[in-house]
Amino acid sequence: MKLLTITIGCLGMILAASCKNQPKEEVKPQVVEVPKQIPGTPIKFDSSKRYIYLTWDDSPQPPGTMVCKDIFHKEGVKATFFSVGMHAFDIRRKRLVDEIRNSYPEFLVANHSYTHGFQDKYKSFYNLPDSAVNDFLRNEQELKVPVKIIRLPGCNSWVLDGEMKGQPSTKKVYEKLDALGYSVIGWDVEWRFLHGNVPVQGAEQMAKEVNEKFEDALTVAPNAVVILAHDRMFAKPQYADSLSRFIEILKKDPKNVFETIDHYPLIKYAVKDTINKKK
Ligand SMILES: [Zn+2]
Repeated sequence: MKLLTITIGCLGMILAASCKNQPKEEVKPQVVEVPKQIPGTPIKFDSSKRYIYLTWDDSPQPPGTMVCKDIFHKEGVKATFFSVGMHAFDIRRKRLVDEIRNSYPEFLVANHSYTHGFQDKYKSFYNLPDSAVNDFLRNEQELKVPVKIIRLPGCNSWVLDGEMKGQPSTKKVYEKLDALGYSVIGWDVEWRFLHGNVPVQGAEQMAKEVNEKFEDALTVAPNAVVILAHDRMFAKPQYADSLSRFIEILKKDPKNVFETIDHYPLIKYAVKDTINKKK
């Protein structure tokens, strides 16, 4: 016991001696402030490029959302997560939305309603336009959505700068959103899924569909393809691989540029502050 006390005592002295030799003040690395980019700030389009918008719906839905986010990051492509407030029901999911929002300009959080259209009861949702609009406003507030960009749950409808079109059942809702200064984004190509969230198309087929849309000029805005998919489809490794492969095929064409949806050519009023200044 005595021996042990002496040993510890010696060790303490040795440590104290070695600490004396260390510099008193830590040299801190210089922090360079990078100005934060504001979502919705217009970009300059290059007519020689083809713009691709990966717009993934229904987040936060872990683990799919994390898987997609990691793949996009690894591949170095931008993407938009159309998010649902009701899905952010615990601290982990709220943090996931925060992470995505804070990673702009890499990723953008956009608005996909708070209740996902009264929990998929689309008919009642679109039959009650005021409640539907309030649902989007609630989502914007809860998730701190930084842009006035909405995707209607379950419907491919569009409200753009000077253009509106979509499913007649959603007309009253998207007209109200238009009057409030919102853009509504549908999609040009959908990566469909079956029950159990199994993707229908493979990576090569999806890339083919995207290329055909560009080549046949069948997109809503020229030179721009909006792709819809859902985070949850890629939770399993074999489908995650398919997503990586899809992006890798598209990246091989140097004309392809991946952007967030606030940089869509026909978007209006993307910057909230700008709208306030205009009013
Ligand atoms: Zn949805």
